[in-house]
Amino acid sequence: MSSIVVAQPDGQQRTVDSGITVAEALEALGARRGRVIAALVDGEERDLSASLDAPATVEPITADSDRGRTIIRHSVAHVLAQAVTDLFPGAKFAIGPPIADGFYYDFDVEAPFTPEDLERIEERMREIITADQAFERRALSREEALEAFADQPYKREIITGVDTSEGAGEAAVTIYANPRGDGTEWVDLCRGPHLPSTRWVPAFALQRVAGAYWRGDESKQQLQRIYGTAWESGKALRAHLERLEQARARDHRKLGRELDLLSSPEELGTGLTIFHPRGALVRLQMEDYSRHAHLERGYQPVYSPNIGRSLLWETSGHLDFYADSMFPPMRMQDKGHGEVGDYYAKPMNCPFHLLVYRSRTRSYRELPLRLAELGTVYRYERSGVVHGLLRARGFTQDDAHIFCTEEQVVDEVVEVIDFTLQVFRDFGFVEGPSRVALSTRPPKAETVGTDEGWSFAEKALATALERSGLEYVIDEGEGAFYGPKIDFQITDAIGRAWQLSTIQVDFNEPERFGLRYVAPEGDSRQPFMIHRALFGSVERFFAILVEHFGGAFPLWLAPVQAVVVPIGEGHHAYADQVGARLRSAGLRVEVDGSDDTLGAKIRRHQLDKVPYQLVVGDAEAEAGTVAVRARSGRQRKGVTVAALVDELLDEVASRRVA
Ligand SMILES: [Zn+2]
Ligand SMILES: [Zn+2]
Repeated sequence: MSSIVVAQPDGQQRTVDSGITVAEALEALGARRGRVIAALVDGEERDLSASLDAPATVEPITADSDRGRTIIRHSVAHVLAQAVTDLFPGAKFAIGPPIADGFYYDFDVEAPFTPEDLERIEERMREIITADQAFERRALSREEALEAFADQPYKREIITGVDTSEGAGEAAVTIYANPRGDGTEWVDLCRGPHLPSTRWVPAFALQRVAGAYWRGDESKQQLQRIYGTAWESGKALRAHLERLEQARARDHRKLGRELDLLSSPEELGTGLTIFHPRGALVRLQMEDYSRHAHLERGYQPVYSPNIGRSLLWETSGHLDFYADSMFPPMRMQDKGHGEVGDYYAKPMNCPFHLLVYRSRTRSYRELPLRLAELGTVYRYERSGVVHGLLRARGFTQDDAHIFCTEEQVVDEVVEVIDFTLQVFRDFGFVEGPSRVALSTRPPKAETVGTDEGWSFAEKALATALERSGLEYVIDEGEGAFYGPKIDFQITDAIGRAWQLSTIQVDFNEPERFGLRYVAPEGDSRQPFMIHRALFGSVERFFAILVEHFGGAFPLWLAPVQAVVVPIGEGHHAYADQVGARLRSAGLRVEVDGSDDTLGAKIRRHQLDKVPYQLVVGDAEAEAGTVAVRARSGRQRKGVTVAALVDELLDEVASRRVA
């Protein structure tokens, strides 16, 4: 028997018999710590049962890693398909990939699955798991595979296709078989790897059913998609389901309705939203904050229209590189006044700011020139991906463009990073960004500009990140078509990550628009341009804040900061007086003049998540005080109105998160 050398990535080696399994190799290397379910062999994911007949580096994949969870979800998807075909004879199964946090499987069945069906399927899956069926990998020729799936048209289509990611290779097709106790077996097309057997499935749950089209194509067969989730332990599964529950309770569309913040009636069109007064008041605070902060940091305000001629978008390159994300043009020749041409709703504000710069001769003394606008843009998103304010077709960016010399680029980016971190802190994300990424040049054909330009811009961003002392990762090829960028993520109260701010360095748009400045030596040079948005989209950040705070905004953002609640009819006059006093101090206050009982009033304002309720009766009217009932439940009596004003103004100024 020949022998081979196996190694761990850290260099540890063992000489072992050729033909041993991956599991045995890990054993020999002493690398089977934790719950190992598969391995990376020379960087390729492999089953524990795969045999090794050449020297290799072997690295364990544990159940609680990202790769491990994907393998678990893959394996559970097979179990799901087996259960469905057991319970629904004649069911055709299409594809069942792992996805973020779970998996799905598409089936062609006579009738949509009911919730009772899902329960039965889940029960059958548990039986299959208990039966401990092995996952056996086999390579078949294309002909053999077509025969194995003789009555499965979707699988046959995949086999005759060329997509190797679904298990159909050039020469061979890999399948995984689950032998059943009765001598039969259940097979599915797959590249693997999988768990050694069904018994290894740690924890799973089926979640819901949705319609889906074969290949996502509306002209093709309508299928029934079952979604599920699977994790490395019951504990991890429960934690995930709990997070989903929390997310549902905080959904900005649900809270938007309940708190009367916004709505999206059908007449508006997909991906569009109207803000009601309470939502608008929160947004106003955000926008006021943004305007003040920009002026303080030396930005100058500009305004631009919502539409622009096609010439503008040709000059900027948007019609060449961004047309898919733009709404179709408005055609002017139909009006009959001799004016001909297309107008486009703006997908970005940049071209307008370039025109402001170009409106007169610029000197180096004016640089850096920082132009800022709360600019509303329109982007065409497929209706399937639109999601409330989080992914909308119209939204407002807290946009700015900084025009500067080559020598100023790094300093300006450092300043923008500092500004970004201030915004995170002021809006309650005191721990700062949870992820910072430098996105580099996409495939050349999808970009404008020279190699030198790209490498200068990438280097400038990296240098600025290092000077800011931020840890960051590189997202290869994720830059914009005109330049690389830095992306900032924050993590919300229930652990979800959100992409917010971006900073991009651009040397292309200034060239396309012919921007110049007069240098100290008198010669004319081209400025650099930095694109940046800190909230990103005001509406999207609004939605994130709604979900992060669960609708209980900190005092400075709350639409109604306090409600004065008179106990009886005789206390309305004093309540009005208190309300007027607080309003004149700049606070947003309502007086509850309704006929409801005191209990009903307090409950209603508590549900509206109003930060403070100020209850007034005889004693308060006489002493010039209020009884303060905080949203947190804390109650205090006999607080003078003057003291209360100071207290609330202080809380507003500190932007404290209660
Ligand atoms: Zn699989
Ligand atoms: Zn821009």
